[in-house]
Formats: sequence, structure tokens, C-alpha cells
Amino acid sequence: MIGVGEALRSVLARARPLAAETLALADAGGRVLAEPLVASRDVPGFINAQMDGWAVRAEDLVGAYAGEPRPLRVKGRVAAGGEQDLPTLPPGGAVRVFTGAVLPAGADAVVMQEVCRLEGEGEGSTVWIGHEPRPGEYVRRGDEDLRRGAPVLSAGTVLGPLEMGLLASLGAESLVIRARPRVTVVTTGDELVPVGTPLVRGQVHDSNAWVLRGLVAEHGAVPVAGGIVRDDPAATEAALRHGLACDVLLTTGGVSVGDRDLVRPVLESLGVEPIFWGVAQKPGKPLWFGVRENTLVFGLPGNPVSAVVCFLLYVAPALRRLAGRTDLFLPSSPAVMGVGFESRPGICEFVRCRHERMGSQRTLVPAGTQSSGALSVLAAADALAVVPPGRSRVVAGDVLDALWLRPVEAWQPGFGAGVE
Ligand code: AMP
Ligand code: MG
Repeated sequence: MIGVGEALRSVLARARPLAAETLALADAGGRVLAEPLVASRDVPGFINAQMDGWAVRAEDLVGAYAGEPRPLRVKGRVAAGGEQDLPTLPPGGAVRVFTGAVLPAGADAVVMQEVCRLEGEGEGSTVWIGHEPRPGEYVRRGDEDLRRGAPVLSAGTVLGPLEMGLLASLGAESLVIRARPRVTVVTTGDELVPVGTPLVRGQVHDSNAWVLRGLVAEHGAVPVAGGIVRDDPAATEAALRHGLACDVLLTTGGVSVGDRDLVRPVLESLGVEPIFWGVAQKPGKPLWFGVRENTLVFGLPGNPVSAVVCFLLYVAPALRRLAGRTDLFLPSSPAVMGVGFESRPGICEFVRCRHERMGSQRTLVPAGTQSSGALSVLAAADALAVVPPGRSRVVAGDVLDALWLRPVEAWQPGFGAGVE
């Protein structure tokens, strides 16, 4: 049996980013950039007005204030997307501008319309301005947002809505994107029946397939349904042979030491090289890991909590690496334990915990039964508290590493929650 760190190192050593492909911007949302992106141009690309008002030469208004407005000759009008080639603004002139309008050459400030008063109409009209702008006031530089050649996004970035907006502002039509890992999920066990089939005593609905396919998708990979397989050598072999065509094969159940635990021998008979079996952890001790060519194979334990914990600890970082991401691991930080409990020495324990507030302090407390069959407790948990193998007991006030299952901000009611 190996330790958690060694198991993770061993998995990551065999997980390599998949090939890259070129995709149109419209197809790139949620995907991972395979190459760093530098700005191909300045954004917005032209000097423009930040306010509705008047473009002026700041030097013409030195000393102006509300009590002593200055007259400037009106020299035209430009709106966003309007006139490109305005004549240079002569000294003593002003141009009516709207937010986003190209600033005429010669102008170096915009005065907001609220402090200006227009006198007359059309040719020969005058605008009185009672404000002394500093040069550059309410003017956006052509490279205010992005400067040509500047790094914008690094390789490994997941393209969320803001990144998509940045790419659109640069006019990026196509991008070099990492392929998504395809992941087959096969659940094994004579007791398993799909949702929709009534249970007879002794049977359980297959929940692992639902959890794992969802987790796979959440980590940017493509889940492939591999079905429920009976504890029968021929059926197991057929399903696993099929699953090995993907980048990753996940099985659940059948990796312990029982007579009906067929997954390991069948995988080995199909040419999967065993890398490790058994990790000094709880839950998830029976985890099996092997490789065949470029396919990674995780034999996850059947117990629902064990399967998820193994996924989060080992499969998720591997999928992220395959998908080209550089942020591989679950977020973690130290947390104060609110109560004490016993722990088994020699193994690393991942204790399902809820957060609780104690005065101004936030603490973690075990969330309920730590049975590896109790998916409900994991679903209600905020974090996994990590009790290292050297510890046999935890006392209230101890600080442990916590792997956060949901963002800490989710504990708060949320901005705007008080309005209704
Ligand atoms: P195994 O690892 O095959 O010995 O299974 C351990 C426990 O997990 C047993 O109680 C199984 O019934 C349960 N189990 C196995 N696979 C699943 C599954 N796909 N969905 C829900 N429970 C499962
Ligand atoms: Mg089983």
C-alpha cells in the first residue's frame, strides 16, 4: 500500500496534455487554451471620449470655473461609431462628443456636458464651459484596455465568459485549444440496477454513474456511458475492452479482495499495466490505477463516497492535466476543527465536514456518519478535513488542511440577499 502523495505523483507522472486543435471562437467557450495569447492589437485601438460632452484643448480652459465660463467655437459633432476623419481641432474650438466617439486630433480632454452651455445653433454656435479640465480628463487611450504585444491569457486558461469577451475584443476568430479527454464510466456489481427499474431486496440503484459522469463533465472532460456490468468475467471483459478506447476509463466496484472482484484481473488480461493497488487512505483504500498506452485506468472503489473522494483526489487532477489546465488541484487551506475525534493511525483520513461559526471563528465539524456508503453526508459537506497518517486523534482547536468542496463564499447569504 502506498501513501496519498505517492499515489498522486504516480498518476500525474502518467497524465500528459492531449493534442491541440484549432477552434472557432464560438466553439471555444469553456475549453482550455493550448497556447499563450498575446494582444494582436491595441484595444480599443483609438483615442476616444469617456463621457458625453465636449472635446477640447485643455490649454484653452486654464483658469475656467463655474463663475467664469469660457466661450469655445463649436467645430462639429461625433458619436460612437461615427465620423473617423475629423479635421484637427483648432485652438479655441470644441467638438460635441458622445461616449466611445473618436477624439479629434488636437483635442486632449473631454468636459462633461453638465458643466457646459450651448449658445446658438449650427455653424457659428458657441459653447460656454465653466471647468478647467486637466489634460487627458475623460479621455481613453487607444491602448487603455490592451496593448498590442502584451500577454493576455496564459496557456492552460479555461475560457469563461470574461475570457471569451477579451478574445472577442481582440477579434480572435480562431484559437488553439486542447482536446477534451473522453472518459468512459463503467459501474460494476450484480446488485446494481438503473433508475427506472424497481428494486428487489438486496439491490441498489446505480448512483456512481450519475455522480461520476457529472464530475467528469465538471472537469472539462466528455463523459461516455459505459453501462452497468454484472460481476461476470465475460460481461466485464466486453465492457472494459470497449472503455479502453477512451483517454480515461473509470470503473467502480469490484476492486477489493472478494471472489467477485473481477475488475483487476480482467483489466490486466486486457493488457493494462497495473501501477498501484491500495492507498493508505480512508475512504478509498482499494483504489487501483493502471495504464494501457495512452489510456489511464482508475479502478475506483464501489462505495459511493470512496469513489467520489478518489475521483477528487486523483482523477480530477489527471483530467485537468489531460485537458491542458495548469490549476490541477482542489482548493485547500488550513481550517480550525471545532470538535475532537479519533483517527486511525497509519492512514490519511478525509473527514467529511460542515463548517460552523463559533463566535467570529469559523470551524469545521464532522458532518455525520463517516461511512463510505453515505453519499448524503458528502453531499451536505463543505470540506474534507485531512487527518495525516501520523495522527491518531484530533482535538478541538487543531488546525488541519481542508479540501473545499464548495467555495467558502457559499456560506454567506450572498451580495444582494438582503433586498427582498
Ligand atoms: P464493491 O466495491 O463492489 O465491493 O462495492 C462496495 C459497496 O458499494 C457495496 O455496498 C455496493 O453495493 C456499493 N456500490 C457499488 N457500486 C455502486 C454504484 N454504482 N452505485 C451505488 N452503490 C454502489
Ligand atoms: Mg461489487
